[in-house]
Amino acid sequence: MKNETYDLIIIGGGPAGITAGIYAARARMKTLLIESISVMGQVMMTDRIENYPGVAEIPGFELIEKMKTQAQSFGLESRQDTVKNISRMNGECLLVETENCRCETTSVIVATGARPKKLGVPGEEKFIGKGISFCATCDGVFFRDKQILVIGGGDTAVEEALFLTKFGKKVTIVHRRDRLRAAKILQERAFEHEKIDFVLDSIVEEITGSAIVDGVVIKNVKNGKKLNFKCDGIFMFVGWTPNTDFLKNFIKLNENGGIITDEEMKTSERGIFAAGDCRKKLLRQVVTACGDGAVAAYSAGQFVDEVKGTVYK
Ligand code: NAP
Repeated sequence: MKNETYDLIIIGGGPAGITAGIYAARARMKTLLIESISVMGQVMMTDRIENYPGVAEIPGFELIEKMKTQAQSFGLESRQDTVKNISRMNGECLLVETENCRCETTSVIVATGARPKKLGVPGEEKFIGKGISFCATCDGVFFRDKQILVIGGGDTAVEEALFLTKFGKKVTIVHRRDRLRAAKILQERAFEHEKIDFVLDSIVEEITGSAIVDGVVIKNVKNGKKLNFKCDGIFMFVGWTPNTDFLKNFIKLNENGGIITDEEMKTSERGIFAAGDCRKKLLRQVVTACGDGAVAAYSAGQFVDEVKGTVYK
């Protein structure tokens, strides 16, 4: 285990964390970005991003690669590791413990993102990886010419359903309301698409099969009628849970696990800031994650300068 001391440790290598890294590196803070090898962020799973200003259309992984290259060009130090705990040592000093190191730091930016929510219905745990997926770009190819079911009515569900039409014979979106939550432009594309159809006002109550998925039981929430629906693949996009479990006894979270911050990205704990989808926030987009990251890095910089007595007033 190596003991090292930093001005700032950023936890998470998505758009929020990398943007914070770019700003911190340009501010010449001694910064380390730690990203988990095992966590695949939401942007990495996105086939196509078309609402990041200045970039007409780009695959998620490519945008992340460009951001990383930009951060490295400013000298950002980064490491693949998993953070286990953050605690206060003494005074302004924080201890970040990972699988491989114990690093001391004056400030931390938590940018750990979120993981896909599960439905919690019978059959779900049994068939994850055996017909159930949370990532269309990763697993869509396994369902060539098959009947695919997409659960959810938000941006992710509709965007990924559109992507899955490249593979599936048919893509059916099951949504619990009579209208979708997704952006209107995505809805227009889905309604016009010949391979996409909808089962609205309906929830999936059970996932069936023997070795692999062969169908679902769908219940209409308005009339209570049940339908046995045959399908080969199920993609679940019913929202996200912030990756904040390791912080729950240390900083203030809301009931969904979102980190509560002020507009300067300060959390309830001195010296700890948060950015991106791990935060309680209104709009989860790449562009808002980047905005959070920039603000968090600026605030962390001010904090470190205050601690060192070098703040520029
Ligand atoms: P979301 O906006 O939270 O939508 C989740 C969807 O799943 C909702 O339609 C919700 O239904 C449904 N749902 C939740 N729990 C359910 C349950 N137990 N059973 C059945 N359905 C359930 O999540 P998201 O679509 O992943 O988007 C997350 C954030 O990322 C959003 O801020 C979104 O704008 C953003 N995003 C943006 C883009 C883009 O800009 N292109 C792409 C992807 C994601 P209700 O509608 O009834 O609540």
